[in-house]
Amino acid sequence: MRALVFKDGLREVDMPIPEITMGQALVRVTLAGICNTDIEVTRGYFAYTGIMGHEFVGVVEDADDPDLIGKRVVGEINVSCGECPTCRGGNPRHCEHVKAMGINGWPGCFADYVVLPECNLHVVPDSVSDHQAVFVEPLAAGVEVMEQVHIRPSDEVVVIGDGKLGLLTAQAIHACGNRVTVLGKHVEKLQIARDLGMDVSLVADFVDTVDVVVDCTGNPSGMETAMAMVRPKGTIVLKSTFKQGAPLNLTPIVRNEVTCVGSRCGPFPPALRLLETGAIVTEPLIEAIYPAHQMEAAFERACTRGSLKVLIDFTCSQGSGEVGAGKMERLHF
Ligand SMILES: [Zn+2]
Ligand SMILES: [Zn+2]
Repeated sequence: MRALVFKDGLREVDMPIPEITMGQALVRVTLAGICNTDIEVTRGYFAYTGIMGHEFVGVVEDADDPDLIGKRVVGEINVSCGECPTCRGGNPRHCEHVKAMGINGWPGCFADYVVLPECNLHVVPDSVSDHQAVFVEPLAAGVEVMEQVHIRPSDEVVVIGDGKLGLLTAQAIHACGNRVTVLGKHVEKLQIARDLGMDVSLVADFVDTVDVVVDCTGNPSGMETAMAMVRPKGTIVLKSTFKQGAPLNLTPIVRNEVTCVGSRCGPFPPALRLLETGAIVTEPLIEAIYPAHQMEAAFERACTRGSLKVLIDFTCSQGSGEVGAGKMERLHF
């Protein structure tokens, strides 16, 4: 199978199709998405070598559970032991021995096939297309904000960051009826949020304060920006991960009695439901779709500043990649 491997740089390699053991499923990947975390991994965010990637949709080719075979699925990225006190306490995502697909100790999905425990898989409803389903993992991360923080209907919310995660997280909160303002640095990307009915502003132009600030900048400066915008007794939710931190004076957090919440992966079922109901729009977030034999080029494209979601299509062996509607670029090979 084809795979994009990170080891002293990124390389497309040919390797054997993996084998499954008890309780696992072999999934034939149809579409995969490149995430900022993948880029951070190649910059040393985690000491990881192996197949990259953690956002995918695919079809189960082999599994212990015969009912799963042939099903179109998405997969949660965290592989837990199921036995440690944290797992037994109901927090498998924070398992003491946790592995994360394409990030930490578990082969990723930028390959024709990926193996995951069956319990990580969620069947995709027929009405949700591959182009939507490939966004379930990052959308679930957006939904996690509501899982962790009680955002009252009257709360005003700011999402800092007009990138992939910011636009998904903002949509998830907006779908709950809140007034959401998306702050960013790119007029074209802010326009996507505006078209979906949200307020938008350039970061530098925003002088208001709000109840809840969600940092999706992917940047150490996001926390400082968030501190300047949160009301006393308000909440800051941090969703950015990066290798290099920055010094920060946390006094405003103390003075204003601000609650800070770290937020990472989220629940897949509500994310799938939001896609099924059409409450979340994904097409405008697709920057480009590359065929699988152009994975290195796809990654390079995803690394360009301000890039939205770059997808890898594994269904085309050679030739032109499948494309959908929206503002995405059509790529022909
Ligand atoms: Zn991701
Ligand atoms: Zn565990």
